[in-house]
Amino acid sequence: MTNSSARFLIVGPQGSGKGTQGVRIADAFGIPVVSTGDIFRANIKQGTDLGKKVQAITAAGDLVSDELTGELVSDRLSQEDAAAGFLLDGYPRNRAQVGHLDEILSDQGVALDAVIALDVPREESIARIALRAQEQGREDDTPEAIAHRLEIYERETAPILAVYEERGVVDTIDGVGTLDEITERIFAALAARGLAPVAV
Ligand code: AMP
Repeated sequence: MTNSSARFLIVGPQGSGKGTQGVRIADAFGIPVVSTGDIFRANIKQGTDLGKKVQAITAAGDLVSDELTGELVSDRLSQEDAAAGFLLDGYPRNRAQVGHLDEILSDQGVALDAVIALDVPREESIARIALRAQEQGREDDTPEAIAHRLEIYERETAPILAVYEERGVVDTIDGVGTLDEITERIFAALAARGLAPVAV
């Protein structure tokens, strides 16, 4: 069986495991992950103009401007490999970005098929970020930047779920458990919408 459409968004606070789960889902469905955070980090590492513009902003845990981020996402989603589907991770992050994504998708005559919301208690996500900070040494994993990003998540990003709830596309997934258990929960929720990975 093939999917005519697999356009997903994964949402969750930092430390919710959305990066890991996002890759698993995208691999299974044969679609690219579009992670704005990864794109910014790659540009910073390569020292591009974009990287220079966003380096200080991301290090402080602030949001890059909607305009710059929106342009980046428009470009990325217009590429050939994203034509039949994609998994967005880290975009949209506020209501303005939801509006911009709506425009991009309606121009293409498509819409999101599912929004996967990973539900993880605050203490659990803080513990996971602390572990990641030790393992990966991300520049924005300082205690101040972590607290700032969580605060922005709660204030600006969590409320976008209500918009998608109204559209009936949200699957809230319990994000506590082993990686495999969580992946299975996500696949079960997608299957209930008739969204199944491409058979290999
Ligand atoms: P992430 O890996 O998703 O946590 O993103 C890392 C950083 O990149 C964030 O803290 C922001 O500074 C920036 N960033 C990623 N996605 C967005 C977005 N949609 N809007 C604004 N800034 C973003």
